Amino acid sequence: MCNIKDIKEEILLSKRIGLSFHTSPDGDAIGSALGLLNALRYLGKDSYIISRDVIPDNLSYLSLANDIDGSTVEPKANTDLVIILDCGNVERISADLTNYNGKVINIDHHISNDKYGFINYIDVTAAATCEIIYLLVKELGFYLKNEIDNQKSHVEIGSAIYTGIVTDTGSFRHSNVTKRTHNIVAELVEFGINSSKIHSNLFDNKPFEKVKLMGHVLSDIKLVLNNKVAVLEIEKKTLEEFNLLNTDTSDVLSVGLGIKGVEVCLLLKEVDDGVKASLRSKNDIDVRKVAEVYGGGGHIKAAGVKQKNVSISEARENLLKILAQEIN
Ligand code: 5GP
Ligand code: MN
Repeated sequence: MCNIKDIKEEILLSKRIGLSFHTSPDGDAIGSALGLLNALRYLGKDSYIISRDVIPDNLSYLSLANDIDGSTVEPKANTDLVIILDCGNVERISADLTNYNGKVINIDHHISNDKYGFINYIDVTAAATCEIIYLLVKELGFYLKNEIDNQKSHVEIGSAIYTGIVTDTGSFRHSNVTKRTHNIVAELVEFGINSSKIHSNLFDNKPFEKVKLMGHVLSDIKLVLNNKVAVLEIEKKTLEEFNLLNTDTSDVLSVGLGIKGVEVCLLLKEVDDGVKASLRSKNDIDVRKVAEVYGGGGHIKAAGVKQKNVSISEARENLLKILAQEIN
C-alpha cells in the first residue's frame, strides 16, 4: 500500500480535482466524498463531484450534499486528478471516465479491488473508506479543532466521515470495528460533531411508506438451508406500488440476520435489467466468495451482486446453490 503522504502530494499538485464513488452510493461512499470535498474546498482547491447518482434522501443533511445531483457524469475540462472512493471495480464507478486521460487515485477498503488507479490506497483493515479519509484530511492539516481555528469546516468534514463509519459498521456492531475506528471517532467528537443528531438523521427519518414496505417484505421472509439462511425478496412492482423505486432497502437485512440460528441473510431485489442481491453474514460464512461467483464482491460479512437477465427465483437458486456449499 502506498503512503497517505503520496495522495496529499498529488492533491497539492493538482489544480482541478473530481471526486467519485461506487454506483448506488451508500453512507460510506457519500461520506468519504463529501468529507474530502469539504476539506478540498476549504483549502481553496477547485474540486467537484462526478456522479450519475443523486444524493439519497437520508444523506441530504451533509454539507455540500446538493453537489451530488447527477448532473456531472464525466470529468470537467482541465481536470488533473480524479479520486475514486469506496469502489473496487471500474465498472461500478458512478462516473464515465472513457474520455479522461488524467490521473486516477483509488481509495478503498474492499478485498476485491481491481487496483485501477495510478495510486491505489487499499486498506482492508479499515472499517470504512471514511477511516482512510480521516487520515487523509489529518495529513492535509485538519486536526483537533483547537489547532485550526475554523470549527465550522471541522464539523462539516467530521460529520461526513462519522456518517460513513456509522453506516459501514452497522452503528459500531460489525467485526470490522477496531481500536482505530473508536480512536478516530473520539477525535471526530473533538472536531465538534453532533453524533446523536447524525444517528437521528440517518435512522429516525424514514418515510412512512418505507416502514410499511419493510413490513410487507418481512411478512414473506423464508428460512432455508436448515434454517441457517433467511431469504427476503422485493419485486419491482411492489416498489412501484409503494412509490419507492429508488429507496435503500438494506434495513430489512439486519432484521433477517437478527433471527436466532440464522447465519446469512439474502435480499433479492428485482431491478430493471435483472436482480440485485445483498448478502449479510453473522459469523464465519464468507458471503463475498458467494457474490464473486456471479461477478459481485464486497466484504466477508457484507457483499452484493447483480445478476443480469434472470428472474428472482433463478437468482435465488443460483446463490443458494453456492451458499449450500459454504454452509455444508
Ligand atoms: P450492498 O448489499 O449494501 O449493496 O453491498 C454490500 C457490500 O458489497 C458493499 O461493500 C458493496 O460495495 C459491495 N457490493 C454490492 N454490490 C456489488 C457488486 O455488484 N459488485 C461488487 N464488486 N461489490 C458489490
Ligand atoms: Mn465502504
